[in-house]
Amino acid sequence: MFDINTVIRPSIKNIKSYHVWRDIFLDKENILFLDNCENNYGSPLGKGQERYPSSSQATLKIKLAAFKQLSPKQLVLGNGSDELIDLLMRAFCEPTKDAILISEPTFGMFRIYAQLNNIEVINVPLLQHTFLYDLSAIQNAITPHTKLIFICSPNNPTGSSLPLNELIQLAKNVKGIVVVDEAYIDFSSHPSALTLLNELPNLVVLQTFSKAWGLAGLRLGVAYAHEAIIEVLNTIRPPFNISLFTQQQISLALDKAEVRLAFIESILSDRKKLSALLPTFSFVKRVVPSDANFLMIEVNDAERLCAYLQAHSILISNRSSLLNCNNFVRISIGTTAENLRLLNVLAQLDANPNVT
Ligand code: PMP
Repeated sequence: MFDINTVIRPSIKNIKSYHVWRDIFLDKENILFLDNCENNYGSPLGKGQERYPSSSQATLKIKLAAFKQLSPKQLVLGNGSDELIDLLMRAFCEPTKDAILISEPTFGMFRIYAQLNNIEVINVPLLQHTFLYDLSAIQNAITPHTKLIFICSPNNPTGSSLPLNELIQLAKNVKGIVVVDEAYIDFSSHPSALTLLNELPNLVVLQTFSKAWGLAGLRLGVAYAHEAIIEVLNTIRPPFNISLFTQQQISLALDKAEVRLAFIESILSDRKKLSALLPTFSFVKRVVPSDANFLMIEVNDAERLCAYLQAHSILISNRSSLLNCNNFVRISIGTTAENLRLLNVLAQLDANPNVT
C-alpha cells in the first residue's frame, strides 16, 4: 500500500507553508490594506492590480474542481505544468540519492528539472519503432530510490499513449508516485487517468491550459492527485505563483469551455487529413500515429526540410537530436488554413526536390 511518508523528503515534512491570511478580505469593500507593503496609489496602469493575488486561489480552484467533478482538495495550480514538474521533484526526490524514471524520447523538461535538482534520471527508452512504453522494462528498472515515474500520455514528441489498464498495473506495482503528464489528453482517443484518482493513491495527473484551451500565454498547469500529495505540493509552492490576471482569465475561460470543443474537433479532423496526405510526399518516410495535436514524421532529411520550410516562413520542430529520432520532425496541427498553407509549400518541394 502506498504511504506518502515513505516518499516525501524528510526536510520537506516539517515545512510550514508561508501563511497568507488576508485572502478572504480581497473582494470586500472598504478594507484598508496596510498589511503587505503594496502601493496603495495604484500603478502606471491605474488601479486594480496593486494587490498580491489570492494565495489560496480558492475561487478558481472551486470552479475548476466543479468543472472536473473533483474536490478542490484534489488539485494544485502551477505556473504552467512546468512548475508542477519541478515541485514534484523537490517534494519527493532527495538530491544525489533519489531518482526519477522517464522513457525517452519524451518531454525535455523532466530531465532538465531532474538535473537542476541533482536527481538521477533512469531512462527506459520507448520501444524503438512503435514509440510505445516498455512496461516490463520500466518495472525492472525501478529501485527503492525511484520516487517518481513519469508517463507522458499522449507523449511529446511521439504522440503515443499508455492505455489506462497498463497504467493501473504499473501504479499498483510500484512504491513511488506515477506522474501522468496529460498535456495533450484533449486530443486523445484514450480516456483521462483522472478517473483513477480515487483508486490509485500514488497517481498524479498533470494537465495544462496551454494546449487545447489555447491559453499558453497565461501559464496555468494543474496537478490532480490524492489529498495527501496535494497538501505537500500546496505547502511548498510559491504563495503567489498564479497571477491575478491568470486567475481571472482562466475563470472566464471555464465559462466558455464549449469553444475549446470546437477547436479540438477541427484539430482532430485536420490531424486525420494530414496523417493521410503527408505520406504521399516523396520525402516523408512515415507518420507516427498520434493522439496529440501534432504529428511526428520521419523524413529523408530533417535539417533540409526544416530549413526549406523556414525559408517559407513556416516553423516546425526538428527532433533529430532525441533518442531514436534521427530525421524525425514534429509538426503542430495549425488552423485549417495554416495546414493548407503548409501542404501547398510541401507540395512545391515534392514537385521540385531542388527548390529552396
Ligand atoms: N508537458 C508536456 C508533455 C508538454 O509538451 C508541455 C509543453 N510543451 C508541458 C508539459 C508544459 O506545459 P505548460 O505550458 O503547462 O508548462
